[in-house]
Amino acid sequence: MEPYWLLLLLPIAAASGWYGARRSFLHIARRKETLPSAYFRGLNFLLNEEHDKALEVLVRALEQDKDTVEVQLALGSLFRKRGEIQRATRVHQNLVARTQLDNDQKLQALYELAQDYYKAGLLDRAENLLVEVGAVDELEEPAQHLLLQIYEQEKEWENAIKVARALGSLNGQNLEGVIAQYYCELAENAILEGRYDIANSRISEALLIDSNCMRAVIQLGRLKAIQGDHRGAINEWTRAIDSHTDLPGELTELIRNSYRIIGQLDEYSELLKRMLVSSDDIRLVLALTEHLYNSNDERKAEAFLLDRIRSNPSISGLHRLIQMRLLRAQAVGDTDLGLLEKLIGSIATEESGYECRHCGFRGKVMHWQCPGCKHWNTTNACRQPRRGSYTSKDLF
Ligand SMILES: [Zn+2]
Repeated sequence: MEPYWLLLLLPIAAASGWYGARRSFLHIARRKETLPSAYFRGLNFLLNEEHDKALEVLVRALEQDKDTVEVQLALGSLFRKRGEIQRATRVHQNLVARTQLDNDQKLQALYELAQDYYKAGLLDRAENLLVEVGAVDELEEPAQHLLLQIYEQEKEWENAIKVARALGSLNGQNLEGVIAQYYCELAENAILEGRYDIANSRISEALLIDSNCMRAVIQLGRLKAIQGDHRGAINEWTRAIDSHTDLPGELTELIRNSYRIIGQLDEYSELLKRMLVSSDDIRLVLALTEHLYNSNDERKAEAFLLDRIRSNPSISGLHRLIQMRLLRAQAVGDTDLGLLEKLIGSIATEESGYECRHCGFRGKVMHWQCPGCKHWNTTNACRQPRRGSYTSKDLF
């Protein structure tokens, strides 16, 4: 039997499509005399659109051919793609255990086995194999890519930095923004542990490699605020506002808190007004509205908000306006606005939050690494309602 012919059919069987199968059949049928019977049984199933049966026939035939390394490698890879991780692992473990493999075959089998372990969640085992396999030129890049995913999952940020730097010099890929995020992760851990000097040095490293790293600037402000330097914190955050137009909404809350602690909320109000000269961001409008409202200037807050949403309509702005009017109406026993407030509130909730530019993941909190696609620096505040996007509720 010639097993390579059966390999030709595997991708056809794995993907579906009568037309593609028929074309392949017409092309290869001319060489019928050289093909094994399993090939034609598999093709018959394909032509009848019974793709699972076709795949089973071909896989069973190929499994008989234990001696051909390429066949076993292809089979193992196919099992993994179909989610049959135990079956894939068995095939690759048997290959690795063979003594007659040449060095390239052995390393390829180890790399496949590392991918099986990764899929099975056995990250330590996968890591050990990848470190061994990565020493070979041909497999270095894919091995390093997988290692990077493992270190991210295990939150081993020092190792992730080393691998990302190696990958950058290997293929010229620009990973500076990602490496800066790894430094920010280290800084975050140090802040939580109260090791502020270390946090400061990690933040400096993040900014050294990516001077535009907004997360590092925000952390630097937090670090100063934690240590009582609220003026310094405000300066850092204001600097972030100047260089980034799409700031997370949380930043105004941080700035307000520091101004409150040093008893200078008037300066906060002036800062918001200055920012609103060049921006119509509804989060800034709402921040100033809240500031006026909490300063016992409810009428002024309402008039300001009404004026802004007249010139720049916004669902969340309208919702806040209805809330304020409802409170006044309830005070005089009129609750007709209640239903409208609920309705607009549900729409505003749907439209608020953050969205990944890469995969469309939406969530209520800012993620520096998207939980959906695992890309870094791809999340922005939602500007538009987007149909068909998914939320954290769909994922977890
Ligand atoms: Zn994403």
